[in-house]
Amino acid sequence: MSLPDFIAKLTEDQYKLIEQVITWANVNSGSLNIDGLQNMAELCSEKLRSFADQVEVCESDEMEVVDAAGNVKTQSLGPVVIAQKRPKANRQVLLVGHMDTVFPKDNHFQSCKITDDGYLHGPGVADMKGGITAMLAALQAFENSPYKDQIGWTVLLNSDEEIGSHGSARYLKEYAQKAHIGMLYEPSMPDGTFAGARKGSGNFTITVKGKEAHAGREHHLGRNAIVAMAPLIAQIDNLSGKIPELTVNVGKVAGGGPLNVVPGLCQMSFNVRLANSKDQNWLLEKLHALLKTFNENPDYNATLHGGFSRPPKPMTDELRAFFELTSKCGKELGLTINHVSTGGCCDGNNLADAGLVNIDTLGVRGANIHSDKEYMVVESLVERAQLSALILHRLAESPELFPTGRQS
Ligand SMILES: [Zn+2]
Repeated sequence: MSLPDFIAKLTEDQYKLIEQVITWANVNSGSLNIDGLQNMAELCSEKLRSFADQVEVCESDEMEVVDAAGNVKTQSLGPVVIAQKRPKANRQVLLVGHMDTVFPKDNHFQSCKITDDGYLHGPGVADMKGGITAMLAALQAFENSPYKDQIGWTVLLNSDEEIGSHGSARYLKEYAQKAHIGMLYEPSMPDGTFAGARKGSGNFTITVKGKEAHAGREHHLGRNAIVAMAPLIAQIDNLSGKIPELTVNVGKVAGGGPLNVVPGLCQMSFNVRLANSKDQNWLLEKLHALLKTFNENPDYNATLHGGFSRPPKPMTDELRAFFELTSKCGKELGLTINHVSTGGCCDGNNLADAGLVNIDTLGVRGANIHSDKEYMVVESLVERAQLSALILHRLAESPELFPTGRQS
């Protein structure tokens, strides 16, 4: 099979696409920079309006956060862009990306640089402004496919993926349930390797309250929350590995102040990763049992906040079949497509949980994401746009390639 002309021609757009990635990366869109995210939403919708049937900018739900004193507060989040083409077609593809980055407005990493080795360095260039660029270029090219009317598509771009997608969860679920196959644009590895199965993840915070007292005059009246928390940390850390592939990472501890005060408050946050959904209940039961025992001491009180936001994404027969199709398309473009399982997770976990078969690393090739060494491989921009355009074209041409059922 020869490469359709409208896909081959994407190479002509290379400079335009690089320019777009740089323009978008220059807009700071850290997860809590609402103005920057609104700006990104406008730039993306403007692009989408030129070829989608309808484009909407929707509001995210507010997110619950626990402040340093252990109080639950709400946090506003950036918008969700939803664009659709042929929403009435029998077969629907959902394409998902996130506009937010891990770099807040005051981070030192704010500008782009192309180096001689063919890399574009910059905040969010790989994760995932390059990915969104490849996605939209692929869709625009696909609109020239003679089979385009066979399928409809929805683009969903959220603003809170890097902080767990709590505010966009209901949109992800709603549109995942309406679609038959999902394409998500996290970066693949520099050599092009995709992520296959993914672990699930949850974030938790424990707040321990004791009693403050003067360390000299009334030390005996104080109830040291840090000291009380210490054995709890060890017990929680000890849950790691009790079930295969389950890990607990105690990532943050805060408490205390002046050294002449017995600290009355201590807060500890941890992240859990696991490979099987059923292990979530095991972990929750263990945590509740630990806190119950802890709270038998009337001098102290411990509370638990948080939960699992991303269930595990297993490798299924249907996902394997989608990888086979992707691999075939890759071959037509001279690419080798491999995939490995990973402990990392993304919105692909949420789409799979809603029953949608999806490949989630269709974005550009890149590395060092979430650091000021982040880069994308410049040539992968057109390469990934072509790969997605070809997948869409083959799906439209041969509707039997769509998964036959939805994942359970
Ligand atoms: Zn990402």
